[in-house]
Amino acid sequence: MSNSDMDSVEVNIPSDAIIIIGAGLSGLITAHQIHLNGGNFIIIDKNENILNGCGSSMFASTGISGMKTDDNYYDDEDNLQNFHNDLIQMAGDFGNISVSKDTLNYLNILKDGSYDAISYLTTHFPNLKFDKVVKTQGSSVARTLGFKSGPPGMIIMMEIIRKLKQLIEEECDKYAILNNTEMIDFIKKDDDDDDEVIGVKCIRDGKTPISIKGDVILATGGYGFDLQKLKKLNGSSSSSFNFNYATACPSSSSSKILDIVDRNGGQLTELGNFQATPCGLVPFDDIHNDGFSVKVLPDTLIKSGFVINQQGNLIIESETKSNNQTICNKLAMNENNYLILQSLENFKFLEKIILKHGFSFNNLKELSKFLNIEPSKLLRVVKTTIPSTKFNHNGKLHVIKIKPTIIMTLGGIKCNPKDMSIIGIPNVHVVGECIGGLHGHQMIVGSSLLSCVVFGRLVANITCSKILKNLLKRRNNTAQQRLKSINNHLSPSYGYNSNYTPFKVPDTEFSLNEISKHKTPESYWIILKNVVIDVTQFLSRHPGGMQSLIRSAGTDVTDGFDIFHDDSMITKLGNGLKVLGRVKGCIPYLEVIGNDE
Ligand SMILES: Cc1cc2nc3c(=O)[nH]c(=O)nc-3n(C[C@H](O)[C@H](O)[C@H](O)COP(=O)(O)OP(=O)(O)OC[C@H]3O[C@@H](n4cnc5c(N)ncnc54)[C@H](O)[C@@H]3O)c2cc1C
Repeated sequence: MSNSDMDSVEVNIPSDAIIIIGAGLSGLITAHQIHLNGGNFIIIDKNENILNGCGSSMFASTGISGMKTDDNYYDDEDNLQNFHNDLIQMAGDFGNISVSKDTLNYLNILKDGSYDAISYLTTHFPNLKFDKVVKTQGSSVARTLGFKSGPPGMIIMMEIIRKLKQLIEEECDKYAILNNTEMIDFIKKDDDDDDEVIGVKCIRDGKTPISIKGDVILATGGYGFDLQKLKKLNGSSSSSFNFNYATACPSSSSSKILDIVDRNGGQLTELGNFQATPCGLVPFDDIHNDGFSVKVLPDTLIKSGFVINQQGNLIIESETKSNNQTICNKLAMNENNYLILQSLENFKFLEKIILKHGFSFNNLKELSKFLNIEPSKLLRVVKTTIPSTKFNHNGKLHVIKIKPTIIMTLGGIKCNPKDMSIIGIPNVHVVGECIGGLHGHQMIVGSSLLSCVVFGRLVANITCSKILKNLLKRRNNTAQQRLKSINNHLSPSYGYNSNYTPFKVPDTEFSLNEISKHKTPESYWIILKNVVIDVTQFLSRHPGGMQSLIRSAGTDVTDGFDIFHDDSMITKLGNGLKVLGRVKGCIPYLEVIGNDE
């Protein structure tokens, strides 16, 4: 045991481990990428059984958005620019709200990392075979990937957990998971308010204090649970702020983390901003009307029925074309919303839960009696919203009580998009839903899981790189040996050449027009900092997958490269890369080029 201090708890804490708080998707991806970099990690979560999956991530039901890397699913209509436009449109509520510079930076990183993210998932977790793609609100094309066999969040999580479990079993001196352990504060170097964070204070099993030292990454998810706090922050009264929270949120709430960050000098941002879905199911016996939604049902359900309030007024018409946000806002104005469905034909899979938490009636009269609404009034509503040819007066009617339900908080901890460090606590990093302002005003469904993957990998790379630099300063040979591949930002298993070999750029010049033609299997060229490189022989070794490089062929990849690597990386990639020359009229500026350039 090392780096820890606790009363009578037997836990193995790997030395020099990066501490990840939260075992949702963002925490697990971060851990896996730390492993690929050769680093050590410990994942801490307050949940009882991390290996069964935890956090909101387990509930993600639609999919992960991202550019498709499998040719079978590739839609020629789509490209990075489209994706970027869609993200920005949603972030700015289709031009109604200005998008902050930080959000624009985040979205840039998100779209640039999207090819790599999907490719990374399918390469490192080969059982993740995406076989379903849907078009979600705000997307101009279908690009949210899922599985026919079940909910995407759970499937992705379980696959990553399987791999991490195996790693921990094989190398328990490098990796560990600590369940039932809640982070309650940071450890400061000299217990001084302005001092550097050097670890975390936790409570294990609800009673035993533990202190663990190391670099800290917060992956603590959304703060949705704290309804009262959110209401206060949003300045809204309860009547106009009638939202619920998905059952996922209480267990994954990081509202306490926000307090910890706040009192340690970290900044928070956009806390009143969240994403809701209209169809949170509320039990009829929830007499106080403030319970959590039992389950979030698909949005499409609401469109196949109609919604009335407790006075019997029509709130959402049948087959409404309104978007989720408009529907949520309308529903939020009422104490009770009743969704009335005539047929469950298209929702066989929900029949059990609808019948369990709702009621069924033989006709309108019975329903109106149950809801205490005049039968003539209910009939008028039905006539307004359902064409007479479609309404079966003798058919069964089902009613469930629904509330708009928050599934994702868009505000949170304010950090620097360049290195994901907390503004005000610069040596602590953040990833996942707890980052505030990443998606702006609204996000395309699927982008949250994507951001967990893109930023999880990024934050792991940044932290590993920082640790290596510190270790080198300490001249700790053993640690240097174990972590020698960290600065590669790549898996040691790829067998990259770790020797630094500066290279010369030939004087041959190529026009942009000529370079742009090299995007076929015969030859793939890219431009990196005005250097023209043939990557044809390198494709299969690209850690982000072949497809991401193929799609960039013929173009300048400098921006994407800069996000994930420093310039020396290019010299470590071995023989697959062929340096051809330079862009016509431009000066190459890769830092590894000799001084005579
Ligand atoms: C019903 C539902 C459907 C959704 N569908 C989609 C979808 O289809 N696509 C999509 O992209 N997104 C979807 N989302 C959103 C998405 O699932 C989440 O935004 C994302 O999974 C968050 O991942 P995370 O790792 O940041 O946090 P989480 O998965 O919530 O994990 C955070 C973890 O941190 C732990 N934690 C918090 N505080 C502490 C502490 N103090 N000490 C120790 N541990 C702590 C929690 O216990 C939790 O396990 C959905 C969300 C919900 C609720």
